[in-house]
Amino acid sequence: ADRLQSCLRDSDTIARFGGDEFSILLEGIDDEQTVYVVADRLVESMKQPFDLNDRQVLSSASVGITFSGLRGEGAEELLANADVAMYAAKSQGKGCIETYRPDMRRSLIKRMDLETGLRRAVRDGEFILHYQPIVDVVDGRVTGLEALIRWNDPERGVIPPGEFIPLAEETGLILPMGKWVLEQACAQGSAWRSKYSDFDLKISVNISARQFQQPIFASEVADVLRVTKLAPSSLVLELTESILVQDSSAAVRKIRELKELGVQLALDDFGTGYSSLNYLRAFPIDVLKIDKSFIDGVAKGAEESALARAIVQIGETLSLRTVAEGIESEEQATELRSLGCVEGQGFFFARPLDLDAVESLLEDRVPAASYTA
Ligand code: C2E
Ligand code: MG
Ligand code: MG
Repeated sequence: ADRLQSCLRDSDTIARFGGDEFSILLEGIDDEQTVYVVADRLVESMKQPFDLNDRQVLSSASVGITFSGLRGEGAEELLANADVAMYAAKSQGKGCIETYRPDMRRSLIKRMDLETGLRRAVRDGEFILHYQPIVDVVDGRVTGLEALIRWNDPERGVIPPGEFIPLAEETGLILPMGKWVLEQACAQGSAWRSKYSDFDLKISVNISARQFQQPIFASEVADVLRVTKLAPSSLVLELTESILVQDSSAAVRKIRELKELGVQLALDDFGTGYSSLNYLRAFPIDVLKIDKSFIDGVAKGAEESALARAIVQIGETLSLRTVAEGIESEEQATELRSLGCVEGQGFFFARPLDLDAVESLLEDRVPAASYTA
């Protein structure tokens, strides 16, 4: 509060509105630019570390601005508008400044509706899993299945994960959701492994940063494996590079714990994140999943496939399995085979499938090697 106050004039009003929110009223300013100068000053001052009990603590502030006198808004409406603008600023990351626009209110309402729906979905179990086959690109044999969540909303129908995972992460709903995915996928994987034992199927599960960071994550995985009787080496946890950069020493420890359980670790969407090759050395990763954006160019010419080729070579050098994501054509599959990529996944082989479709696929292709893509 002192620090914020030091950025203001005596005639300005500042009040704490609860939690970590403050409201500031700047009066008698006739040029908008001044308001932005003050906002910048506030953001800058909050970025300076705080000394708390001999520890340095870093903080940040997001600022939402609204101007009065546009339509004769009352105090309450002004405060609500500033609040809406602050949420818009927050959603852009730390230390951002946003000015209120009426359309922000609509997107905030949409977001609130989505959040309400998502809470209900977690409570009532409205999620389903589809499984996308991962295949050996040489003979088309199914080597694994990636569990992909969908929200079966009673009103809106099936909603893809891209539309609700980010909000689930922000609100923490990803924790119960992710636990459910892990339990379901391991139970299903365990059943399929006994029913289709000649495939030696691996089950891949996507893990979000928030799940991974929970101190109990590794023991949760261990519990699920025990209850579902899935062999640890048949479970592949798909992590993204952002997990590894966040807090490296804690991440290294967590990864070791998981490796001790015997599970496999895959780096998902490889090449799109921070892609420091150091991670590959520091973390005992088993599988590199080459992001679809690199596969799109494959078979379009030497230049376009150069990066995919390089990633396959990195995998080879470090003895990692490489899985090409998003293979949509026969030409891409052929080219990837010649680049030495071992496994692939994509609409060309199979889309994400419901349980029945997975079973008919596995049944049609027993014995495994009889299918050639
Ligand atoms: P991802 O893990 O990289 O999964 C691959 C995505 O690419 C899937 O989208 C899949 O349907 C899509 N895909 C596969 N082959 C092709 C292809 O040939 N062409 C095209 N255009 N797309 C292809 P989906 O199911 O919409 O999932 C999107 C993302 O949502 C996933 O990306 C993953 O990051 C996240 N996600 C899905 N399920 C879960 C989950 O249970 N937990 C968490 N934390 N994230 C999940
Ligand atoms: Mg994945
Ligand atoms: Mg991916």
